[in-house]
Amino acid sequence: MPSPEAIVNAAELNEKCAVFAANIPDTESAARIVTTGLFRLQHRGQEGSGVVSSDGESLYHRRGRGLVTQVFDPEDFDIAKLPGSIAIGHNRYSTSNGNGNTLHYQPIIGNETPFALAHNGNIPDTSRLEAFLDSRGVSSKNMNDSEMMHTAIEQYVKCGAPLEEAVREVTPLFTGAYSLVLMDKDKVVALRDPKGVRPLSLAGYKNGYLVASETCAFTQDMRHIRDIKPGEEVVIDKNGFTSQQFAEGEQKLDIFEFVYFSRPDSHLLGKSVYKVRERFGEMLAEEFPRIKGDIVIDVPNSGLPAAHGFARASGIPKEVGLIKNTYSGRTFIDPGENIRAQKVREKLTPLPEVLAGQRVIVVDDSIVRGTTPREVVKMIRDAGAIEVHMLITSSPVKYPDFYGIDTPQQSKLLAARMSIDEMKQYISADSLHFLPYSRMIEATGLPEDAFSTSAFTGNYPIDIGRKKSEVIRI
Ligand code: 5GP
Ligand code: MG
Repeated sequence: MPSPEAIVNAAELNEKCAVFAANIPDTESAARIVTTGLFRLQHRGQEGSGVVSSDGESLYHRRGRGLVTQVFDPEDFDIAKLPGSIAIGHNRYSTSNGNGNTLHYQPIIGNETPFALAHNGNIPDTSRLEAFLDSRGVSSKNMNDSEMMHTAIEQYVKCGAPLEEAVREVTPLFTGAYSLVLMDKDKVVALRDPKGVRPLSLAGYKNGYLVASETCAFTQDMRHIRDIKPGEEVVIDKNGFTSQQFAEGEQKLDIFEFVYFSRPDSHLLGKSVYKVRERFGEMLAEEFPRIKGDIVIDVPNSGLPAAHGFARASGIPKEVGLIKNTYSGRTFIDPGENIRAQKVREKLTPLPEVLAGQRVIVVDDSIVRGTTPREVVKMIRDAGAIEVHMLITSSPVKYPDFYGIDTPQQSKLLAARMSIDEMKQYISADSLHFLPYSRMIEATGLPEDAFSTSAFTGNYPIDIGRKKSEVIRI
């Protein structure tokens, strides 16, 4: 049994989320724009959602459990209760340990000072923040990383510092990944950690500006301007936006954004996520030309672009072999293997009409604990396939993540426990192949040093402090 303390820590960890901000002087409802932005970022977090707005006089907020369409269901909530031309919002994703704990929904609003903060990322080691708060006589007990960040900023705001200055004062305490949006009555502040681990982009809309975790949140009438740079702080007020580097930046985007996390219609570092994933599939075909199959299928939805790329490059036809129930919830975070397996079976159904009698090549983006591939191979066989070959568009995930993606402890990662051959047996596939690490990087068209590759290499570009003891080099 994990200690209660371990459970609390796990709940703090593993938060991968979405943020969206708007300052549009011409609009009376920035909150409306922010909720539609959050809706387009729903894939980054489904556990809770929240928006804070300002009409220049006061801050207004709504936060709750569930999907954006549930929290902001017009039947239950009139969005006019969030007035004003400035708003920020957040979608929350945490582990099951965080489930039901409405206390930690964001944006965070302080008790003492009227400003709000929403965070995507994670601070693996909060000892600097804790020590700072302690020196100010503030107890950080029961606070998560984002709440500590908010409280640290508050120490300067309550002494009269403008929000953007207060944030700059305390960023040296933020030893981790953070894409942040903040607001007070009059402005939006957005910033990205000096390694730019999580994405954050800027767009123009009407006579104002927007900030979003991913470019897929911007509709066609919004003008995507550029990514916010690592170590950059952008301030958006009624006169437009200003920018400054608060620290020297060195881009280290989490490559898992390309592999799994971002939506295919987003652009990261100027590259189309869809095109990169398609290239992963082409490269799998180039690397493993000897795999003989009659059809190629994807594990929906994350394997889809790569399955197309594989089919085109190999000449093997792409078919639909698994149907995904769009309405099923998440399968990934449940701590119990049996329940996860059952949820995979509820989520995916095989099509015997397509699979029976076939040598099937099945493409997915990653193997984490091995639940999905094991269930998928079983159901494809039960549907009558004569061979099942599993192809994975990333290299083996051997190391836990500490920067805001929901990968479990290292001991739960299949590739940390088994060789590829043992994994193949565990999932009972006829063959199992991973895209080699170097080719995965090559597919992005960007140099390796533009990325945080910790899940695959164990190289953590931002010090993970006391979490180091949780990682074993393999
Ligand atoms: P496994 O079932 O092996 O634990 O996880 C692999 C499956 O989970 C793949 O189908 C992949 O698309 C998906 N996946 C990978 N990383 C994440 C994540 O961080 N969150 C969620 N929800 N799914 C993930
Ligand atoms: Mg998947």
